[in-house]
Amino acid sequence: MAPSLRRHSVIDPQQVASDVQAELAKASGAAIPPVSIRLSARRKKTVAVREEGDGFLIMAPAIIGEAELRRISMELVGKALSSRRHTIGNNELVERAAQLNNKYLGGRATVKEIKFVTNMNTRWGSCSVQSKRIRIAHQLQDVPGYVLDAVIIHELIHTFVPNHGPEFRRWEAHTPHLEKAQGYLEAFKRWGMRG
Ligand SMILES: [Zn+2]
Repeated sequence: MAPSLRRHSVIDPQQVASDVQAELAKASGAAIPPVSIRLSARRKKTVAVREEGDGFLIMAPAIIGEAELRRISMELVGKALSSRRHTIGNNELVERAAQLNNKYLGGRATVKEIKFVTNMNTRWGSCSVQSKRIRIAHQLQDVPGYVLDAVIIHELIHTFVPNHGPEFRRWEAHTPHLEKAQGYLEAFKRWGMRG
């Protein structure tokens, strides 16, 4: 775009977008999907982000200041990234359960089998001390990692503690972000349960 066409702003959106991408990559130490920014004269106030292609598109009012645009873009893309869903399969589930068992339960859980199933619509997971076979509701294949981990750890504990008594709670307390995960699951049950 020629400078003479920029009636509303002298911001170079692509420059800001690539700076935001670079800064987030530096901050997280990970590759960040492409970010692009679209300024719109029709958009009045709010800045929004949405996924587009395999990256993110920021939509902002054309009258926005550059510092403000940078700040909000960082924040919105950062948030979108952290909640971005990542679908995991049964192999990854097995590996993850083994890691969680070692890290948080001192390797006490014995798992004969762990897999996602599609016929569990009222519970997130199941397991029994007798069977040591863990079933996880497929709806959890693409929730944030800490939420899935909390459910896995819960079921892992059931391989050696049958009930939800004090011993269970003691082990469960090792779960990272336990309360946040429980809050997520509550909300998910109410609004997000599919099929
Ligand atoms: Zn339970």
